[in-house]
Amino acid sequence: MTPCWIRCNLIWLLAALGCGEPAPPQPTAAAPQPESEAAESEAPANRVPAADMSPNAQLDVVEDLRRAANLELHPSDGGGRAWVESSEPVPLQVGRPGRVTLVYEAGPDGIAADGSVTLQVSPFWRWSTPQTQIPELEGYTRVATDAAGIELHAETLGEQMLGIRIEGRALSAGERIRIEYGAGPTGAHVDDFADAASRFWFAVDGDGDGRRKLIDASPALRVVAGPAAHLWATLPSVARPGESVRLHLAALDMLGNRGTRATGSIALSDEAGLLDLPASVELAPEDGGVLVIEVRAQAAGITRVHAALGEFRATSNALQVSAGVPRILWGDVHGHSGLSDGTGVPDDYFAYARDVAGLDLVALTDHDHWGMRVLADTPELWEQIRASTRRFHAPGRFVTLLGFEWTSWLYGHRHVLYAGDTGRVIDSVDPATETPTQLWNALEGEAALTFAHHTAGEPIATAWQFAPDPRFEPLVEIVSVHGSSEAADSPSTVVGAMPGHFARDALERGYRLGFIGSGDSHDGHPGLAHLASPSGGLAAVLAEERTREAVWEALRARRTYATNGARIILRVGLGTARMGESLPAPPADEPPDLFVQLIGSAPLQHVDLIRRGHAVERVPLDERWDATLQKSVDGLASGDWLYIRAEQIDRGAAWSSPIFIE
Ligand SMILES: [Zn+2]
Ligand SMILES: [Zn+2]
Repeated sequence: MTPCWIRCNLIWLLAALGCGEPAPPQPTAAAPQPESEAAESEAPANRVPAADMSPNAQLDVVEDLRRAANLELHPSDGGGRAWVESSEPVPLQVGRPGRVTLVYEAGPDGIAADGSVTLQVSPFWRWSTPQTQIPELEGYTRVATDAAGIELHAETLGEQMLGIRIEGRALSAGERIRIEYGAGPTGAHVDDFADAASRFWFAVDGDGDGRRKLIDASPALRVVAGPAAHLWATLPSVARPGESVRLHLAALDMLGNRGTRATGSIALSDEAGLLDLPASVELAPEDGGVLVIEVRAQAAGITRVHAALGEFRATSNALQVSAGVPRILWGDVHGHSGLSDGTGVPDDYFAYARDVAGLDLVALTDHDHWGMRVLADTPELWEQIRASTRRFHAPGRFVTLLGFEWTSWLYGHRHVLYAGDTGRVIDSVDPATETPTQLWNALEGEAALTFAHHTAGEPIATAWQFAPDPRFEPLVEIVSVHGSSEAADSPSTVVGAMPGHFARDALERGYRLGFIGSGDSHDGHPGLAHLASPSGGLAAVLAEERTREAVWEALRARRTYATNGARIILRVGLGTARMGESLPAPPADEPPDLFVQLIGSAPLQHVDLIRRGHAVERVPLDERWDATLQKSVDGLASGDWLYIRAEQIDRGAAWSSPIFIE
């Protein structure tokens, strides 16, 4: 799915804060003026990005965000409270029609005549837009009050947003407005993604000046998964003989939501007979479709687990049982929750990563400035992220890292990870920390890492004029739900890709960057972002221990590779160097051997060698499940680099970190 949230949600963000949409709602008005247009007249005439900015820098967005942060509000703005009176069905189910009755009650300051209440249904997914015109259509909404002498004028202000203007007289403290959302025969379309607390945001313009503020506590409702639509089986990629490993089995709904009511016997078999696997396991109603079982790897070799539940079939990724090979940990270190522009609560994000996706490593990286509330200005949100990150960290078993996204609309986004439990949100909108150099200076003395992402295209490309600071940026995220930013010839290139901004271009500038992928998921499904998008992203981290220390050391040393979601085993060496490392320029008469090992999660299509900026060789792999290649590489000179890209027939792809010639 193409995330529309990137651009359109700015409207919601700013409108909820009240800086846009200056006139009160008119009964017959159509779509709202985009905030950027409303701001045009006050903005500086020169909107061309400065030479060191991203070519698709969005200066207007930053100006709007700054204006929103400095808005003067009336004491009555944001007053009152709201709650859910009823909803049906209970609970609401993803993608199904629903009906929700909400009540707003004016606070002590009331709302002046010509003031307004705005209902913003959770703006980031496919909730119906509330509309008061056509009862037969989705999202039909009835608005009423018992307060005598009050007239309500309700109208759609934009997607998922309804404005209700108070007329006749002021709404006094304690007086109420009742809103029936989905009141027509077709109800309202509910979000596509399960969420423990999908919020109905209320904002109030108490004095009628067109500026509004969110009320303190907007009500929320639970949205649960749909029926099971497929089965998913996940194993780690490497185990030692005799070691226990976890097999993750998940009966998920169509878009990967957890919490289906699938039950029954899951039949299990192990392709190579290496595991002490039970013939079947029982999925009980209270499991919510997810089971994690421990099995022992009894002998060396490569195996996959086949699972069957009724009509659903799953084949796991490959498990290599070996005493000698480096361990591969799977991570997703970039994603968003309902605390910014995603779905769900932090605890569910971490639990999904651990139990459903079977990840070893995860980070929740909500935006500093992109959501209904501003993380950079709301310490309790950051405290929630910190507490959840800390609570789920289980050394030896499951690693969490604290993070946020420095969401620069001028120089490109970077997510920031901290090695420990402390760290602060650095504000990309603050002029003191708006450039990458200022970001890195602000991180001085911290054990932190920064990752440029979707570097080549939309929603904003990376300004590579700023050389990645080696203290903080040894890696770049090359693939996510946005697609690949590796190179123009990459599978599923990022939308709006621009020459000069690919990761390969950054290598051409002489930057030593290793590669990772991560989901940039907004659907609450870290590790499985590719279930609801054409592309996802995973970080393969070559570290022996599931601890923050071991993972951090591997990330810093670029012992990583990227995939678009497929758990492909990839090993690359050149002479004595492994991926991410460097090698002295070899003598001309002693060319080093390049070694590549691939074990697919599906049949392999081909492997490419990329060297000096170009794909120089493609080796067809004829749908084999695994492959080993070896060849000598001539003519390596100082400044060269090379890496491997592999593709499967199911479009799964993996990219090794480069090896650099000193
Ligand atoms: Zn981003
Ligand atoms: Zn992001």
